[in-house]
Amino acid sequence: MGLLDGLVKGLADIIPDQGNPELKAYKAQNELKDLSEKENLIFAKLGRQLYADGGADRYPEIRTELDALANARRAVEERIKAASDEVEAKKKAAQEEEARRCPGCGATNHEGAGFCSECGTKLSAPKRFCTNCGAEVPAGSRFCNECGQKMEE
Ligand SMILES: [Zn+2]
Ligand SMILES: [Zn+2]
Repeated sequence: MGLLDGLVKGLADIIPDQGNPELKAYKAQNELKDLSEKENLIFAKLGRQLYADGGADRYPEIRTELDALANARRAVEERIKAASDEVEAKKKAAQEEEARRCPGCGATNHEGAGFCSECGTKLSAPKRFCTNCGAEVPAGSRFCNECGQKMEE
């Protein structure tokens, strides 16, 4: 049921029908729709039970359809994952660029620069993170404090 349908139905439930036959018919039709939806849900449940209970072998054409659906689902799930990975990568790139930005003049410096190439402001050392456990590793540390992973220079 759509949001609008739900709203209209909700209103119809509140408004007394006052003997209005059109409203009475409308309300009854809505009740019928609800009952049909409930019936469909029960049949869906029954279908799942039968399918699990040997139906997959008894109805190979349905199995084929469901398998195709499962494949399509996996493909969509992979697209969702790829998209959220992309979002993460963009966020990280933005953070990295922000970290290289000079607090004095706003110029973007190359990674690891000690001083701004535009105005000479001292730049704080960029944060480093362990490639194994993700913990922040202080500048100059050769090993991760958390897991002992050797840091690349
Ligand atoms: Zn600067
Ligand atoms: Zn670590």
